[in-house]
Amino acid sequence: LRSRLPRVGTTIFSTMSALAQAHGAVNLGQGFPDFDGDPALLDAVNAAMRAHHNQYPPMPGVLLLRQAVAAKVAAMYGHSYGVEDEITITAGATQAILTVLLSIVHPGDEVIVLEPCYDSYLPNIELAGGVAVRVPLTPGTFRPDFERLAAAITPRTRVLIINTPHNPSATVWSAQEMQALADTLRGTEVLVLSDEVYEHMVYDGAQHLSVASHPELQARSFIVSSFGKTFHVTGWKIGYVLAPKSLMHEFRKVHQYNVFTVNTPMQYGLAAYLQDPQPYLQLPAFYQRKRDLFRAGLAGSNLRLLPCEGSYFQSVDYRAVARLGDMPGQSACEWLIRELGVAAIPMSAFYSEGDSQTIIRFCFAKRDETLQQALALLQQL
Ligand code: PMP
Ligand code: GLN
Repeated sequence: LRSRLPRVGTTIFSTMSALAQAHGAVNLGQGFPDFDGDPALLDAVNAAMRAHHNQYPPMPGVLLLRQAVAAKVAAMYGHSYGVEDEITITAGATQAILTVLLSIVHPGDEVIVLEPCYDSYLPNIELAGGVAVRVPLTPGTFRPDFERLAAAITPRTRVLIINTPHNPSATVWSAQEMQALADTLRGTEVLVLSDEVYEHMVYDGAQHLSVASHPELQARSFIVSSFGKTFHVTGWKIGYVLAPKSLMHEFRKVHQYNVFTVNTPMQYGLAAYLQDPQPYLQLPAFYQRKRDLFRAGLAGSNLRLLPCEGSYFQSVDYRAVARLGDMPGQSACEWLIRELGVAAIPMSAFYSEGDSQTIIRFCFAKRDETLQQALALLQQL
């Protein structure tokens, strides 16, 4: 069989989680919490099942959930998306991203990604028949470089994918950067796919800047988000897409023949749970404390901490660790699992052609005991 994705193997997340399990290592690699979501949310889903919400919901999602999302987004970002035709519930952000690309990319269209980037973007572009144009984030700081971005735009550019807060570098775009993006795209037909799955994880008093808050960007953007991230239930695979009506119209043409719709009881459960904004408003403080605990624990080691402005990832440079030195990231992660008993993800996995930086990423969405267990081991480095 001639492969549709000849260069693709098993994802780094599955690979590292399997290796961590085989060696009984503390898994700070793949990004998922090792604790449950709020019992009130679990009860709300249970109640929805018992209330007979178990058959197909409407294709765009349960109305109550679309209303709850519209209210949340309007309150936080100041733009009111139409409940009928501008919000669709998806099977997680992963499905949303692929469906956006399938719905707007024609064969040969160029899609700009800012590298390093989340691992599904490039195979998704390939499946959609697009040509990926990779623009590097500024080496060292991982900030967007608008001169390089402007230089990469051609008449064939269909869409630019952005991601703030950023996986893996944990940077959060500033108001100046959002404005620079709007300035760069003005006068072009380029659409934006804004991956905002970590929207509620921003630290030190900073605000997440959604493209929904910037009218010029909003008008040309699809936004994707994930309840899995926000409510500690990554295994539920449920999220949503926001877009102006004309863009959403095309999205739904693909969505209806891809998954058609998304499981019903979780939608009712989430709709009820979203009535109280406290759980997501308290998320920055919840994760900032874990970030600080993890960073403080690493301060005495030879791992150099990179900044963490948002997301639940903390990256470190291991060059000063004698036993790791300039070992490539993948080998360093394998060594850490086998010899030390802690799993991480190499930053190089977020580059299409690999990368020689000695940087690895830890996920701190873990119980304090798990973080302490990992720190006791990492402090030996
Ligand atoms: N985008 C980014 C940047 C992510 O980190 C993730 C989760 N790993 C996703 C999308 C996918 O989210 P979901 O689990 O809702 O499909
Ligand atoms: N988004 C998660 C991460 O970056 C992993 C999701 C997955 O396993 N595909 O770690």
